[in-house]
Amino acid sequence: LPGCGRSKVSYDQLRQILIDTPSSALAEEWSRYYTAGPHLTGKNYSQALWTKERWEEFGVKSDIISYDVYLNYPLSHRLALLEKEGDDSASAWNVAFEASLVEDVLEEDPTSGLEDSVPTFHGYSASGNVTAPVVYVNYGTYQDFEDLLKANISLAGNIAIARYGGIFRGLKVKRAQELGMIGVILYTDPGDDGDVTEEKGVATYPEGPARQPSSVQRGSTQFLSVAPGDPTTPGYPSKPGAPRLPVDGAIPSIPSLPISYLDALPILKALNGHGPTAKDFNRYWTRNTGLQYKGVSYNVGPTPDGVVVNLVNEQEYVTTPLWNVIGIINGTIPDEIVVVGNHRDAWIAGGAGDPNSGSAVLNEMIRSFGEALTLGWKPLRTIVFASWDGEEYGLVGSTEWVEEYLPWLSAANVAYVNIDVGVRGPNFKASAAPLVHNVIYEATRSVLSPNQTVPGQTVFDTWDGRISTMGSGSDFTAFQDFAGIPSIDVGFNSGLEDAVYHYHSNYDSFYWMQRFGDPGFIYHRTMAQVLGLITAQLVEAPVLSLGAADYAYALIDYVKKVENKLDSVTSPQALDVSALTEEAITELRGSARKTNVTVDATQRQTAASFKTSLQRLYSALTDLTESSVKLDTEAKELTEKLEEHIPWWNWPARLRLGFAIRKVNTKYKFLERSFLFDQGLDGRPWFKHVVFAPGLWTGYAGAVFPGLVESIGSEDWTNAERWVDIIENCIKKATRSL
Ligand code: GLU
Ligand code: CA
Ligand code: ZN
Ligand code: ZN
Repeated sequence: LPGCGRSKVSYDQLRQILIDTPSSALAEEWSRYYTAGPHLTGKNYSQALWTKERWEEFGVKSDIISYDVYLNYPLSHRLALLEKEGDDSASAWNVAFEASLVEDVLEEDPTSGLEDSVPTFHGYSASGNVTAPVVYVNYGTYQDFEDLLKANISLAGNIAIARYGGIFRGLKVKRAQELGMIGVILYTDPGDDGDVTEEKGVATYPEGPARQPSSVQRGSTQFLSVAPGDPTTPGYPSKPGAPRLPVDGAIPSIPSLPISYLDALPILKALNGHGPTAKDFNRYWTRNTGLQYKGVSYNVGPTPDGVVVNLVNEQEYVTTPLWNVIGIINGTIPDEIVVVGNHRDAWIAGGAGDPNSGSAVLNEMIRSFGEALTLGWKPLRTIVFASWDGEEYGLVGSTEWVEEYLPWLSAANVAYVNIDVGVRGPNFKASAAPLVHNVIYEATRSVLSPNQTVPGQTVFDTWDGRISTMGSGSDFTAFQDFAGIPSIDVGFNSGLEDAVYHYHSNYDSFYWMQRFGDPGFIYHRTMAQVLGLITAQLVEAPVLSLGAADYAYALIDYVKKVENKLDSVTSPQALDVSALTEEAITELRGSARKTNVTVDATQRQTAASFKTSLQRLYSALTDLTESSVKLDTEAKELTEKLEEHIPWWNWPARLRLGFAIRKVNTKYKFLERSFLFDQGLDGRPWFKHVVFAPGLWTGYAGAVFPGLVESIGSEDWTNAERWVDIIENCIKKATRSL
């Protein structure tokens, strides 16, 4: 029963503890520990153990949960530009350039030069040794490849060189492979670093905040949009002895390598003067072309006769254990739990930003909850803390865990809170399911920002208040998209004017964080406070008070987006606008106009008539809105009632209130689950959520109503109708559940 004095620490006191306890100095200490040496997936047992020991010291019972997962470790690699000496077939090939494929060792940055440092390679990449002409494919988005096809650039049999950015890297390799290309090189263009570049007079790391020219972005090239997790066990946990499926289609079959812009320069220059240049395409090609200052004219190629690249990638595939650390504080309500997680594994020795700023923050938050426990706090709901392994290869640790504990999570999990890169700059950012938006607003309003240009301003005050929809790219994916658990992902991001963040490179190091990312670790402390308050509200507010109406309104908004898409149907398969950020959509729309896509009259007709089908969704959503507003109002009234004192002897009134709260909370808990569709999305059945999924061709950016939007994109109106039915049923189910 509420207000029974079960806990010696009130909700308000708990909030104060969570604000007062986190310490910058300790966050710095945790960061120093995690970033002192390599801790690649499956090679970080000592860190798992250490994490468990710390959490137990903080007063949280913890365990290590292991899975046997399929993944790769690098053996060797080579990338060279070869030029033929003469014209005849017998002439020799000379090595015109041999890429170093290593990052510079910097004296100032101790973890940049460890003996056992992790080579530059791609997670889940294919072994191979290929030699072929090169084609520059811009960012390697679906649309970029379409542009090249339209320009008759020969792709099949050639090697692609693409710059990082825009979409998830694995999807660049996926599309290149589908088009018959035989290898992929991914490099980081300093043009994408915003205002902090050498060209603008900024010194490079470690002297200054501009990009260190030899930095390389490692990262996974799994085909994310099919399913995350161990690719040999989609949908079920990789326990020892579990049956394994073949990996075909889930990971690349052509080799790829990540390189620095220094190593990319000679290859891009070899393209100068060959084929059209970026300027012959559209704005998406000419933006941020940072190497033009270094003699690159961004011709697409292919390289001329007698100039080829040799790409060698040798990977060892193994099935090996990884280790999640799971800590639990039991609540008094047995079937309402909140999970808070961060991954521990990193591509490099450092990982001061990704993921260990999050790990340091999580530790500080857990220590703060531990502090409350020693003062006699008894949580209402159970809190589960997770330190995931295997995120970098494909969200493996979290996905396997969700797959294993699905029955429990489906029955009990109220929300999942994720923190990956907790700090890489000063700009707060969030993505979340609409149901939990208000939790983020409340927490950020209660925490002072380290930025006090306006005295007293909170994190909320310094933030634009935008919350993105959930895409993928971190450990919330299995919770949100597979289990239907409303999720939150938060962190402090960097802007165009902040120090360049060396993502997945040796220079995402403790030294970088201390000197440029978060001197004094004050944003780490702030993040721990925000994360603590988010968690506290989900765990301690007697009435869950999630935003059911927020969800209903968001759904109406998403239907409107689909409607707008119908208005602008051109060549949607190629545009896939559903899945992109607003900025990217505007860019791509511009390019579509330029390439003069003609719109078939009958297609317009069908698109127009399909609009009437969407009316069914609006009408179902009217009912959902009504029930949602009712639920939110009831929740508010119950919260107010709780504040009134009901004397102990009036136990019937107390009992009635307790039952009413229980009923409301149960409705909130299961609301998101109504939007799961058992058969999953077309072609990717692991993704069960009908509202949210990673965009088919973006990976990171989320798509809304993916099944419906993809059917419209491929002009399959029958299937689009089927998706309207499915979504309508989900909405009605949700309304009934309220
Ligand atoms: N955070 C990882 C990345 O962006 C996720 C990898 C994945 O989803 O496969 O590389
Ligand atoms: Ca699995
Ligand atoms: Zn990460
Ligand atoms: Zn990462």
